[in-house]
Amino acid sequence: MKFATRAIHGGYDPHGHNRSVMPPLYQTSVFAHDHVGEALPYSYARTGTPTRAALEACLAGIENARYGLAFSSGMAAIDAVMRATLKPGDEVIAVADLYGGAYRLLTRVLAPAGITVRFADLSDPGALPGLLGAQTRLLWLESPTNPLLGIVDIAALSAAAQARGIPVAVDNTFATPYLQNPIDLGADIVVHSATKYLGGHSDVLLGLVAVSNEALYREIRFIQNASGAVPGPQDCALVLRGIKTLHLRMERHCDNAERVAAFLCGHPAVAQVFFPGLPQHPGHALAARQMRRFGGIVSIYLADDSRAAASRVAERLQLFALAESLGGVESLVNHSATMSHGSLPAEEKLRLGIREGLLRLSIGVEDIDDILADLAQALQP
Ligand SMILES: *Cc1c(COP(=O)(O)O)cnc(C)c1O
Repeated sequence: MKFATRAIHGGYDPHGHNRSVMPPLYQTSVFAHDHVGEALPYSYARTGTPTRAALEACLAGIENARYGLAFSSGMAAIDAVMRATLKPGDEVIAVADLYGGAYRLLTRVLAPAGITVRFADLSDPGALPGLLGAQTRLLWLESPTNPLLGIVDIAALSAAAQARGIPVAVDNTFATPYLQNPIDLGADIVVHSATKYLGGHSDVLLGLVAVSNEALYREIRFIQNASGAVPGPQDCALVLRGIKTLHLRMERHCDNAERVAAFLCGHPAVAQVFFPGLPQHPGHALAARQMRRFGGIVSIYLADDSRAAASRVAERLQLFALAESLGGVESLVNHSATMSHGSLPAEEKLRLGIREGLLRLSIGVEDIDDILADLAQALQP
C-alpha cells in the first residue's frame, strides 16, 4: 500500500475492537487475568496498551520499519535510544548542529555518566571513517538540522558506520516519514519528536522510535518498559489522528515554505535564507536525492544581526506566534539563540551560526497570501 493509505489504516484492525473505526482509548493502567500465570497481550499499561500498540505499528508502517516504540516526549525517545546503545566508556559521534535538547542530553547527562561525546561536521561523509574509534558505539544524525537546515548524506554515512559495526540513528523530526525514510537509506534507528509534524496541531507531546533490527528493538523496548517514559492513551490517539493527515499537511507546508523562501530571498531586510529547496543551498542536490520535498522550515539571518531587530520582527508578526516549537498547522517564529537553542553555551552558538539575528520560521498551512503579507509588513524598515 502507498503512504497515505498506510498512514490512515496502518497498525489497526477494527475487528478486534467492536468494529470501532477509530482506535479506542484504553484508559486503564492494568488488564485482568483469568488464571494465575496467564500470558496476556497486555497486562500493565507501562509495558503496553492497545492504543499505544496501534500508534507504534502505524509509525513502523510509514517508516518502512518492522517495529515502532512510543515515548512520552521526543527527548524520552532519544534518551532511550542512547541508553540502549551506550554504556560508560563508549563513544557517540553526533552531527555538530543538532537539536539543542539532544545537545544538552549528550553533554550534561550522558557525558557525566562516562560516555564520550564527540560532535563532528559530517557534511563530507568521506571524513567519517577517520573519526570512528575503537570505542565508538553510535552515530547520531539529523537531516535537515535545526535551525540552519544542514543536510547530511544518510546513505553514505550509514554505510561507513555499518562497515565498522556501528549503528546509526537519525532524528527525522524535520523531514517526517512523508519526505524521508532513513531506514530505506540504510540507517538502523529513526527517532521523532511527534510533538511536531506527526501530531501536527501543537496539542500533544510525544516521541517515537522506528527500528527494524530485532536485537536493537529488544534493547530499546527494554528501556521503554524499565524506565517507563511512556505516553498515555489520549496522547497516542492524538498522534494517530495527526498521522492520518500528515501527507496532506506536508504537501501544503512544503508549498508554502517554497513560496516564503522565494519571497525572502530578494528581501532587503534579510541577509541570508536557509532552505534546502533553494538551488544555492549547499545541501540542495543531496536533499533533492534523499528527500521527496524540502520541508516546511525556513530560517533567516536578518540584515541587522541584533537581538533588538529580531525582537522587532518577531513582535510585529501577527499570524506567526513567537514560540519554541514547529510543525503545527499554524505558523510560528522562533528566536533560536534564546529559545530552542538557549541551552547552548555562547561560543557553541557562535560556532554553529546561531546568531542574534537568526529567526527560524515554521511555515504553517494557512493561506499563502496571508503568510506573505504578514512577513512583508513585519520586515518593513
Ligand atoms: C522538538 C525536537 C526534539 C525533542 O522533542 P520533544 O517532543 O520536545 O521532547 C528532538 N529533535 C528535534 C529535531 C526536535 O525538533
